[in-house]
Amino acid sequence: MKYDVIIIGAGPGGIFSAYEMMKLDPSKKIAVFEAGNVLEERKCPIDGKKIKSCVGCDPCAIMRGFGGAGAFSDGKYNITNDFGGTLHEFIGRDTAIELMEYVDEINCSHGGAGTKMYSTTDSPLKKKCMQNKLKLLDASVRHLGTDINYIVLGNLYDELKDKVDFFFRTMIEGIEKTDGGYRVESKDGSWEGEKCIISVGRSGSKWMEDICGRMGIQTKSNRVDLGVRVELPAVIFEDITNELYEGKIVYRTEKFEDKVRTFCMNPNGIVVTENTNGIVTVNGHSFEDEGKKTENTNFALLVAKHFSEPFKDSNEYGESIARLSNMLGGGVIVQRFGDLERGRRSVQKRIDEGNVRPTLQATPGDLSLVLPKRLLDGIIEMIYALDKIAPGVANDDTLLYGVEVKFYNMEVLLDEDLMTKYEGLYIIGDGSGVTHSLSHASASGIYVARRIIEKEADRS
Ligand SMILES: Cc1cc2nc3c(=O)[nH]c(=O)nc-3n(C[C@H](O)[C@H](O)[C@H](O)COP(=O)(O)OP(=O)(O)OC[C@H]3O[C@@H](n4cnc5c(N)ncnc54)[C@H](O)[C@@H]3O)c2cc1C
Repeated sequence: MKYDVIIIGAGPGGIFSAYEMMKLDPSKKIAVFEAGNVLEERKCPIDGKKIKSCVGCDPCAIMRGFGGAGAFSDGKYNITNDFGGTLHEFIGRDTAIELMEYVDEINCSHGGAGTKMYSTTDSPLKKKCMQNKLKLLDASVRHLGTDINYIVLGNLYDELKDKVDFFFRTMIEGIEKTDGGYRVESKDGSWEGEKCIISVGRSGSKWMEDICGRMGIQTKSNRVDLGVRVELPAVIFEDITNELYEGKIVYRTEKFEDKVRTFCMNPNGIVVTENTNGIVTVNGHSFEDEGKKTENTNFALLVAKHFSEPFKDSNEYGESIARLSNMLGGGVIVQRFGDLERGRRSVQKRIDEGNVRPTLQATPGDLSLVLPKRLLDGIIEMIYALDKIAPGVANDDTLLYGVEVKFYNMEVLLDEDLMTKYEGLYIIGDGSGVTHSLSHASASGIYVARRIIEKEADRS
């Protein structure tokens, strides 16, 4: 069977591409190939009791499957051009915002209505940040929460499953240009399509690099963000989180003039581990469901690093530091801020005696043996800067988990339609290096679906 459009990857990019294409032209024959499982079969075996750490499942239920890396995420859809990707550089600022708002409408009409939208517009926090050498970035954020996010994805799947051919547990290994389009191959067979949209996300980064190499598609290295996840009593941060849910705050360090930023705030949430290609790092979740809320808030503090000459592989640098922390801690390390400042490792007794009850069982240790001095100095400086707008952040008992690494895919050379040098071969979402967030990845999927339909209309 030859398809009109083949989509590789069923993360937000792939899902919203298929959704929009079906809506605009229901006669289109569309196939979606996904290395992971259908949503309800995505189950990570870590239960905190029998299985406490990652056992390296293939496919990883957290990163792969319907919903992609975002399926069990906090479901924060940020509507902004200030962070989350550089989609606006390709499609224009207004179009990017319009598409993110459209994605929000779709989420709301599929179970997300009733969730809260926060905005930095007219926030008094902006002034308070400025007075303390911090910058609050502009954004509106729809917080679906892990539970509602899951429901929205389930509803989207129910709507698509009879109109689109889904192939789960089908890892596409190769892509070949044919006379009439593209042939994709897995170990179980091959399929042809006139157009091909690649949306393989972060978990497909190595594969993407390989395909670009094989097809002669130009790429350039991207940055890596490194740092820690901070966990503290929710009351300390509630002025910020009650008003904005997630405040994206940037600090420029005095010592090195590096930028340190907050990332992924989870009010009353939990700290979790994440496994990327066998490397265990830390992340955070929160829930809309009152019953699942904790007494803590967590967020990451990250410093961006970009290497270009002679060492180019920024991600490898991030992976090496994460591996070092895995080697020392057998996974994630946790340290009290007071212990870090006193130059001593944390021990379980001191953590147990503290005021912050950890939501993740991690190995008490010393983050200064893992993170380079320059990065750690920047993080410590920012903790003191945040302490001025939210007194208590720099308390001794504040917990720091490490390491948190935000990997970015290398950037693929694309035109303003997000198309490669091959006619009809598009790369969208985080796999393209252009987006790094749910809303940008989803918007890129909608954009490409519309461009494909518009171009066909122009030709006929
Ligand atoms: C724990 C966690 C929490 C997050 N929280 C947020 C948040 O609150 N807000 C936010 O904006 N972002 C968040 N993110 C980031 C967000 O999930 C991603 O930016 C987004 O999912 C990217 O969408 P995507 O479609 O580009 O890629 P992905 O979601 O990564 O989907 C790609 C899919 O392609 C499949 N695939 C890869 N290679 C192949 C292949 N060769 N053949 C077949 N299938 C393949 C994968 O299995 C995967 O399912 C979070 C990420 C994680 C891991």
